[in-house]
Amino acid sequence: MSKKEELECSFCKRKKDETNLLIAGIDAHICDKCIEQAHGIVLEEIQNEEANYSSEFLVKKPIEIKDFLDQYIIGQDQAKRVMSVAVYNHYKRLLQKRTPKDDEIEIEKSNIVMVGETGTGKTLIARTIAKMLDVPFAIVDATVLTEAGYVGEDVETILTRLLQAADYKVDKAERGIVFIDEIDKIARKGDNPSITRDVSGEGVQQALLKLLEGTVVNVPPKGGRKHPDQKFVEVNTKDILFIAGGAFSGIDKVISKRLNMQAVGYSASISDDKIDEKNLLQYVIPSDLKNFGLIPEIIGRLPALTYLKPLDKKTLRSILTKPKNAIIKQYTRLFEMDGIDFTIDEKALDFIVDKAIEYKLGARGLRSLCEEILTDAMFEMPSGEDKKLRVTKKYAEDKLTKSTIKKLKAVS
Ligand code: ADP
Repeated sequence: MSKKEELECSFCKRKKDETNLLIAGIDAHICDKCIEQAHGIVLEEIQNEEANYSSEFLVKKPIEIKDFLDQYIIGQDQAKRVMSVAVYNHYKRLLQKRTPKDDEIEIEKSNIVMVGETGTGKTLIARTIAKMLDVPFAIVDATVLTEAGYVGEDVETILTRLLQAADYKVDKAERGIVFIDEIDKIARKGDNPSITRDVSGEGVQQALLKLLEGTVVNVPPKGGRKHPDQKFVEVNTKDILFIAGGAFSGIDKVISKRLNMQAVGYSASISDDKIDEKNLLQYVIPSDLKNFGLIPEIIGRLPALTYLKPLDKKTLRSILTKPKNAIIKQYTRLFEMDGIDFTIDEKALDFIVDKAIEYKLGARGLRSLCEEILTDAMFEMPSGEDKKLRVTKKYAEDKLTKSTIKKLKAVS
């Protein structure tokens, strides 16, 4: 036997011809398979260290959290303040659990519920917080959830999303944030739930309770019932922050009714504090959610309640240009990458906002409107000679014909 054939990996003892690659060190050899395995261990260690680091207080103080949110979200001050405090308390709670004190005062979870019209920034706030904390973030739509055993998705699949967002790292997922959108759509349908089963309303609320509070859930990692053979993964939800959002359309009537009743009861107090009839959401209290059809237990598990204001013209205008990743800044960067100097006139920006309001497209519509206006330029200019684009109001008007706006309205 020649000396070459005797070479083997010093770690797994595979012979050279059983490996794809054998690298020689001073006194030892390592094969490709062992390198891969060792690399995996190194990555895991780094990630664990990062995970510990972030839970051990990368968390900023509420004012700093709000400052961060201010960079991305225009207005909505009250919501940002409530969120900042709730998030801060949530992570303080986690910290307390790591370094428990003798007097053990148990801090309860500070899950959050946001009430506000669609497109006012609920998801954006939740997403921005997850980004700031660098934790996994999942968005789930409550409307697809049904009580276990019925057509639709079981509530456990909420955690499937979070697991996926955490690259299947359970410990990471267990400190993540879940945004449950359209929570208002699982409100109880009517006052007498016992007559017919309410599988996508109160049934789901019941199923959500434990999840919100904290429990160990068997999660199907691939989700759904299409993969019956998959092995379940245990996920503990006690440290997961749940943020629920919904438009609760019609809740203004509930609020108004309550306020008027109070006004009769305590004639002086409320009428003195002039009620802002145009924005009744700011007066929302937990009992309004109950009257809307959320069960008291769910409301109890979403103790931080806040509201978002409808976006007015001034806010929409700022959304176009002010946030750190504002739409106009993004287009400027895109053009810049082709060496194109892109500018847009104030009047053109006003025009876009006016159209968004006129056709009730909201903040989401701003992007679609810009896209319609700029697509031709983005198609032609990268191959052309002209390296300057100035969008005037006239340019925007020409590109945005009535039919294109109608089309946007249909999809929004
Ligand atoms: P919601 O969850 O309330 O339906 P989103 O958070 O999804 O609304 O908002 C839709 C889009 O509108 C966001 O991606 C963002 O671009 C924009 N937007 C909405 N509200 C704001 C805001 N207050 N500040 C900045 N951008 C906003």
